[in-house]
Amino acid sequence: GVERTHELQAQRSKLPIFAEEQPIVEAINENSVVIVHGETGSGKTTQIPQFLYEAGYTSNGHLIGITEPRRVAAISMARRVGEELNQPEIVSYQIRFEGNRTDATKILFMTDGVLLKELQMDIQLAKYSVIIIDEAHERSMYSDVLIGLLSRICMLRAQQGFPLKLIIMSATLRVEDFTQKRLFPSTIPKLISVESRQFPVTIHFERRTPVDYLEAAYKKVCKIHEKLPEGAILVFLTGQLEVRKFMQWAMSRYSMRKSKKGERKRQKMLIKHSNEVKQVVDVEEFGVSDSLANFDDTKPRNSDLPANDSEDRTANLDEDGVLGYEFEDDLEDELFENNLPPPPAEIAPLYCLPLYSLLSSEKQRRVFEPVPDGCRLCVVATNVAETSLTIPNIRYVVDTGKEKRREHDPITGVSQFNVGWASQASAGQRSGRAGRVREGHAYRLYSSAVFEEFAKFSQPEILNKPVEQLVLHLKSMNIVKVANFPFPTVPNLDQIEDAEKKLIRLGALEMNVKNKQKEARITQLGRTLSMFPLSPQFAKILVMANQHKLLPYAVCLVSILSVREPMISVVSIRGMDSADTQQKMAEMLKQRRSWCGLGQGRRLGDLMVLLRAIGAADFEQMNQNECEKLGLRFKAMQEIRKMRRQLVNLINASCSLKEDLAIDTKMAPPTEEQAKMLRQILVACLSDQIAKRVDRSIANEEIPKGAYQSQKLEGHIFIDATSILYQEEPDFVLYQEIVQVQNRKCMQTVCAVE
Ligand code: ADP
Ligand code: MG
Repeated sequence: GVERTHELQAQRSKLPIFAEEQPIVEAINENSVVIVHGETGSGKTTQIPQFLYEAGYTSNGHLIGITEPRRVAAISMARRVGEELNQPEIVSYQIRFEGNRTDATKILFMTDGVLLKELQMDIQLAKYSVIIIDEAHERSMYSDVLIGLLSRICMLRAQQGFPLKLIIMSATLRVEDFTQKRLFPSTIPKLISVESRQFPVTIHFERRTPVDYLEAAYKKVCKIHEKLPEGAILVFLTGQLEVRKFMQWAMSRYSMRKSKKGERKRQKMLIKHSNEVKQVVDVEEFGVSDSLANFDDTKPRNSDLPANDSEDRTANLDEDGVLGYEFEDDLEDELFENNLPPPPAEIAPLYCLPLYSLLSSEKQRRVFEPVPDGCRLCVVATNVAETSLTIPNIRYVVDTGKEKRREHDPITGVSQFNVGWASQASAGQRSGRAGRVREGHAYRLYSSAVFEEFAKFSQPEILNKPVEQLVLHLKSMNIVKVANFPFPTVPNLDQIEDAEKKLIRLGALEMNVKNKQKEARITQLGRTLSMFPLSPQFAKILVMANQHKLLPYAVCLVSILSVREPMISVVSIRGMDSADTQQKMAEMLKQRRSWCGLGQGRRLGDLMVLLRAIGAADFEQMNQNECEKLGLRFKAMQEIRKMRRQLVNLINASCSLKEDLAIDTKMAPPTEEQAKMLRQILVACLSDQIAKRVDRSIANEEIPKGAYQSQKLEGHIFIDATSILYQEEPDFVLYQEIVQVQNRKCMQTVCAVE
């Protein structure tokens, strides 16, 4: 039996889904596939697993599995459901390499990548009685694939008299893709719509679309805060950097305003010297210290959560593409020179909380906690707040209409993070956040004409991602004709063919002729590669390095390459011209040069810098400040460290090496010979990521230093001025990825090819 606390039971009973328990459970009992549609916040994620638990779906040792497209959601929902059931031990989460699953687990929240892995080991999913695919409307690649696979597994399990229930949950009613006959030839999925109490939301468009959406959002929030009645505000921005910038502005205007009586001075100094006690006192006086603590990212987080929300670089939704970096004292320049009149003297503090996926889950949970007395709550969020997490009590929504997404160009094979217009469906979801508890207002910072131009729905991710890992996954499950797979949306067939070719070149697939038909089948190498939660190219780096006894280095290199923007690139440093910044850069480069030497180490370029940083004995203790002195992103370094450990564990657990791999905390730099071999391996495996220097002497236009050309991209791509290889500009370089920052395509983490 379940003994819930009164408080939580009372909260549950207010959810729209609560009254629907019986019809939902009946529908699931009677149908093998059920699609549940319900507005965000109606209680799908937190309640349906509990309904099924109480209906006995775990009674004979089976599990209820729920997949989430985001790690944040998997962790926070597991915790919440455990609390609601008053039995935290039976609700667990499992994300890429970590989780708290035990023998007692009955409800398991996981990322979709994890379930896919589990399927590789047991295609029948015999441990499970129910699989719930949550947030299916987001159309993440893996959730689409899972739905395709599960459609077949359900048939198989039904034939064996041991049915598996499939529940697809969606916040939108656009479910035709999931009900197609191609997907479910013999069963018609049962559709249940949860009626939710949604109060009317008045939508306000701008007459003209502002140029700077961040500035516009800030001004709108000021206006709401100063002119409109109480009620929390939710602002949608595109990434962490914007969120932080917004918070600086808002806090300089409101939270500390009364710190010096009458003297309405901008709080530049206070923000600049963020360690001064004085400021903390000032802030606490107004009960907003939390929001400042949130904003202050300089302290290492004690949370051991994965910093990167996406299941892996190629696998998932991820709204924090470009993580620009600011030097600490740079904030001053960022203070917004607005032409707003000073705020009214009696204005209440604005209690700003950030919400983005890279934020630790403790900090994310603050949005659920009570707001300090006398303050207005303002949640500054990325699209994580669109459907995954429901923030209670929002009355005003400010929607920039923008979102950051990874866009994959199937022709060039280049993935980039771009900010673009969201879809009409997303805008609808965002506005809807304002009408959960009473009538609300949504301020769209664009014109209705622009809105008409938005795509109706966001594109399924499968159309927008490199498909190699996907193809290899499917092949490893003996799905040979990938093109015939029951995808909810069939990806570009040329792309699948390209991926097959690429995998053949890597040696992961081989062409066989069977019944006069050519088929690309998985090889032994391919099976090995598919064991790693890495792109096949990265996995091959490990395999080749192992043959040359270079595995410890390769593990580090792959960890480095897997983490987004490990180095702070110069384009994201503001105030670049200041003498102080120049000085910092000179010192940084000096240290980097001393690490790389002149020979092969230098040719390894930025990778050598990172390898040395990781190999340094004191790396584990390196703090944010020390990292930044070296131009390394602190958070990325933590991720690399974690990834390295995880890869080592994975290799030790699943590859029978003669000797277990250890984490060498004082790793000697590679010898000349080793460095050369490592470079050759990288070039062999990542041959798509090579760029050629533009010969500036023969060009008849002015071309900036550091310009390169890749075979696949039109226009120039640049080597960053902070790169150890910027001075010498090798003829060919290998890059980690290309990131667009301020109209410039920049290569991240380069090493020389020859
Ligand atoms: P859905 O999946 O339909 O969007 P959820 O089940 O996620 O809905 O949320 C139902 C309600 O539970 C929401 O009102 C939300 O605010 C609340 N809720 C979810 N997680 C937490 C939490 N960690 N703390 C407090 N309330 C929460
Ligand atoms: Mg949900």
